[in-house]
Amino acid sequence: MVLKIIIVAILAFLAYILLFKKSREKEISSKKNEKITDEMVECPTCKTYVSQKEAIISNGKFYCSKECLENKEG
Ligand SMILES: [Zn+2]
Repeated sequence: MVLKIIIVAILAFLAYILLFKKSREKEISSKKNEKITDEMVECPTCKTYVSQKEAIISNGKFYCSKECLENKEG
């Protein structure tokens, strides 16, 4: 039956699209994560720029060192 073949072809095509989309989303999100860790942020205490990778995070703020974290104002 030709109709059966068409239905199977459509299902296979949809499965392919879904798998392709998922793998693309994974790729994009992993790239996003890389970007976040490389981003430069300003230390609120000494105004020095540090990468998020090396910064100390406290209350949603990025500090360049433990000293700045302890000497924070406000
Ligand atoms: Zn600092």
